[in-house]
Amino acid sequence: LGGGKEGTLLLLGLDNAGKTTLLHRLRTGDVKHFPPTDRPYQSDKFSFQGLTFQAWDVGGHEAVRHIWEDYVCECSAVLFLVDATDADRMEEAGFELDALVGEKLVEDIPIAILFNKCDLPEAISSKDICQRMNYDELVENHGADKISAFRISVLRGEGYQQAFRWVASFL
Ligand code: GDP
Repeated sequence: LGGGKEGTLLLLGLDNAGKTTLLHRLRTGDVKHFPPTDRPYQSDKFSFQGLTFQAWDVGGHEAVRHIWEDYVCECSAVLFLVDATDADRMEEAGFELDALVGEKLVEDIPIAILFNKCDLPEAISSKDICQRMNYDELVENHGADKISAFRISVLRGEGYQQAFRWVASFL
């Protein structure tokens, strides 16, 4: 996964983006449906092929800054999951990401944005998602070499491998 390299990846995104499903898939190789009730707001930490993963919900509770203050020291990259079918919440996702990018501590950390659920016909185009998330501004603020977007489907097991390879190139 990380090509023999080690690192800690923070998996962030609004609720329902697919974080729990991705972690479960990495951990077990299976896809399982998780009902949204009683979800811990922070997932367990787990390691896989040299990479340690931990997932957090962002949005709605001013949590991002707090997460950074506590966890950024041990974080080598951020994976930011976006539901590619949920046009209504892309602006919010972009807003959260922009808050993150504005943090001094995050300056040098690579950020892979994963447009998830691209298996669904209603997944919208990357160009459209980028517009709604204000992606150009994120690139401008964070640096084009340190931020990149990928279309993925956790359900089908597609696309995130490229993102991991990109992230691993920084480790
Ligand atoms: P979280 O809140 O970010 O942890 O999101 P979950 O992992 O609970 O996923 C939210 C919903 O999206 C669940 O119903 C998942 O089954 C579904 N989901 C996650 N990934 C995919 C995907 O790649 N394709 C499709 N079609 N559904 C997905």
